[in-house]
Amino acid sequence: MTGGLTSFNGIQHCMIAGIHLDNLSEDETLAKIGALIAQGGAHYMAVVNAAKIVSAQNNEQLFGILNSADIVTADGMSVVWASRWLGQPLKERVTGIDMFERLIEYAAAHELSVYFLGAREAVVKTLAELFSARFPQLRLAGFHHGYFDAQENAERVGQIRQSRADLLFVAMGSPAQEKWIAANLQASGVKFALGVGGSFDHLAGFARRAPRWMQSVGLEWLHRLWLEPRRLWRRYLIGNTRFIWLVLKQKLGSTKAKGKS
Ligand code: UDP
Repeated sequence: MTGGLTSFNGIQHCMIAGIHLDNLSEDETLAKIGALIAQGGAHYMAVVNAAKIVSAQNNEQLFGILNSADIVTADGMSVVWASRWLGQPLKERVTGIDMFERLIEYAAAHELSVYFLGAREAVVKTLAELFSARFPQLRLAGFHHGYFDAQENAERVGQIRQSRADLLFVAMGSPAQEKWIAANLQASGVKFALGVGGSFDHLAGFARRAPRWMQSVGLEWLHRLWLEPRRLWRRYLIGNTRFIWLVLKQKLGSTKAKGKS
């Protein structure tokens, strides 16, 4: 990511609790990714929700990875609300799952090959089949589930490199996927990588996404909490409260300027 905060009218970036977000619409994000791919080299994008911003406060590695990404956008509606309240309004929410679908369509249209890494074997296999059926011209470089240990990592990276994939989608949960991308991006040889959380499960039909109305009023987290209360209560209830506190502190002007140049 480049540049810093600009004026509040037509801002390019917004900063929330030290994390810098790009003020891009979904279409603009896609255009920027296209430009990054054309430019050459290896690039990655990260999406953030309230929980990820909170978790980055105590995780220097995640903090650095987010602020070194080529693009960072808001995965959660609460992040967009916070940006507005802080006077640095983001244009819209640009979620990982929506960008993932847009990029598959883009890849099919631009002859770019894709690799899916993550989720359970049955999920990623179904996903690959579904996308291949939906976009017959899609170049599927390969796929692999996301349950492998450190010893196997070199083999996974080697396989992606050999596949000559252009775009890599990693669905291993956060912060595992962000760390994996940061550590293996160069070696994998891909042009662009995106961490997409639970998207493989949702798009392959193994998990339900919240109804549109819940997404638009910022209650997607409540839907997920309802489905997986044991795993997620801490993330959402404690995470959301801490997020509100962080934003409040920043609003009151006491958050120390931290992060990127
Ligand atoms: N996952 C994985 N390897 C692991 C742990 C999880 O591939 O070691 C996958 C899991 O199967 C699911 C995704 O990572 O597809 C995690 O989704 P989650 O909903 O937790 O994503 P988040 O909420 O962190 O975006």
